Amino acid sequence: METMLYQLNFKRGQHIKPVTTVATEAARKFFIETYGCQMNVHDTEKAAAVLSGMGYQQVAAADDADLVLLNTCMVREKPQQKVYSRVGDLKNRGRRSKKKPSVKPAPIIGVMGCVAQAEAEKIFKKAPDVKLVIGTHSISSLPELIGQIDSGFPRAIDIRQTKEAEFLEIAPSDHQTPNLAFITIIEGCDNFCSFCIVPFTRGRERSRSAKRILEEAQGLVERGYYEIQLLGQNVNSYRGSFEGIEDATLVRADKSAFVILLELMAKYSGAARIKYTTSHPRDFNEQIVEVMDQYNNLCPWVHLPAQSGSTRVLGLMRREYTREDYLSKVAAIKNAKRDISITGDMIVGYPGETDADFEETLSLVREVEYDGLYMFKYSPRPNTHAAKRKDNVAEEVKSERLIRLQEVQAEVQKSRFARYLGREVEVLVEGTAAKGEGSLTGHTPCNKVVNFAAPNSLIGKLARVKITATTPNSLLGELINA
Ligand code: SF4
Repeated sequence: METMLYQLNFKRGQHIKPVTTVATEAARKFFIETYGCQMNVHDTEKAAAVLSGMGYQQVAAADDADLVLLNTCMVREKPQQKVYSRVGDLKNRGRRSKKKPSVKPAPIIGVMGCVAQAEAEKIFKKAPDVKLVIGTHSISSLPELIGQIDSGFPRAIDIRQTKEAEFLEIAPSDHQTPNLAFITIIEGCDNFCSFCIVPFTRGRERSRSAKRILEEAQGLVERGYYEIQLLGQNVNSYRGSFEGIEDATLVRADKSAFVILLELMAKYSGAARIKYTTSHPRDFNEQIVEVMDQYNNLCPWVHLPAQSGSTRVLGLMRREYTREDYLSKVAAIKNAKRDISITGDMIVGYPGETDADFEETLSLVREVEYDGLYMFKYSPRPNTHAAKRKDNVAEEVKSERLIRLQEVQAEVQKSRFARYLGREVEVLVEGTAAKGEGSLTGHTPCNKVVNFAAPNSLIGKLARVKITATTPNSLLGELINA
C-alpha cells in the first residue's frame, strides 16, 4: 500500500507558526456535517469513532465545535459546490470574532469524502481556510493529520488509494439512528458507468470477509440494534472470503457470494431486519429473490436503479443491461411470494437522449411501478467518460423532462401507497417527524416512511401502526402497540 500522507507548504527546517486554535486542557469538540449517501453517513460514524478515541467530544452544532469536518458528496454538481459556500459560512464565525471577542474563533475546517479524494490540493487553493483534506480511504489517518496541524503545519492531506479493505474495519461506537446500524460489506466500484465519478473517488472494489461482517452484526444485535443495513456501491459484486464460516451447507459453488452472505446474515446475525443497498441490475439475480422469500428478516425492499428506460441510452451509459434485461429482473421480484417494494434512480437529459428515449423512460416507470424514485437531471462529472461527450440536451429540456418524470412517478406512487391503507405495518421509530408536534417517524421493513402520533419514549423501538392515510412521500398511521 502506497502512502500519500504529506504536508503542503512545508520545507524541512522552516519555522512555521502553530496554527492550532483549540484549547488543549478541555476536551476538544468536533462536528461532522454529512452530505450524500448512506456510505457517507457510515463514514461519518467511523470518523466520529476515531475522533472519540482521540479524546474528542462530539457536539450537535458546528457553532460549538473546535473541529468541523465536511463529509462531502460529488455524485452531482450541486452538493460539490455546496462545500465551498459552507466553508465560507464556517470561516465567518472567526471573522466576526475579531470585532466581537465574545464570539468563538473559527474552527479548524476539514474536508473529507468524495470531493476531498477527487479535488485534493485544489481544495486548499479554492478554500484557503481548509486545514485538513481527508480522502475516502484515509479516515484512520485522522490522528496523524490532526497531529500535524497541532505541531504547526498549516495544512495536512491524505488522499492515498488502497486496494485493501483494512480501513473498513473501523467499528463505529455509535450509529446516527437509534437501533439502526450500517455495515459496509464492499467498498469501491469496478463498473465505470459513463456518468459516474464513484470509481474515481472510492477506488476499486474491496470486499470484507463474511466472518468480520457477521461478527460486527452479532455485536450490534447484542447491543440492542434491530436493523442492519448492508452497504456497498454494488452489493451484488460482493466477493469476500468465507473462511471461518462453520455452516458448510451455506457456502456452495452454485450460489453467488452475495446470496451466501445474505443467507448467513439471515440465519446467524440475530437481526430482526436486514436491508441492503445498492444493487446493480446487471448483477441482480433470481437467487437473491429466492433467499428473500425464504427468510422473513431479509426485508422486502430492493433498490434497483435503472438510470434510463431506453436500451440505446443504457448502452451509452455503459450499464451493461438492456431495458428487457432490467424488466426481467423486475418480473422476478414481482413474482416473489412476498410483496417486495422496488425503488430506483433515474437520470434525464443524458447526452444524446432523444424525446423517444425519454418516452421509454416514462413507460418503464409506469411498467415497473416504483414505490420510490430518485430523479436527477444529468450533470457532467469530472474524469468520467460522459463528461467528454457534448452535453447536448438543453437545460430547459432537461428541466421539462424532470418535471414530467416527477409527475408520472407521483401518480405511480399514489396508487402504490394506496395499497397500504388499512394495513398494519411494523415501524422502527427513528425520531420525531419534521412536521407535526407529537408526531414520530420511522421506516417499515419495505422502507416506507411512516409518521404517527406517539410519545417520544418509543424512539428506537419497534411499533405496530395501522395506516390511515397517505401523503405524496409517506404513510400516516395510528399506533396500535409497541
Ligand atoms: S455501478 Fe455505476 S453508478 Fe453505481 S457506483 Fe459503480 S460506476 Fe457508479
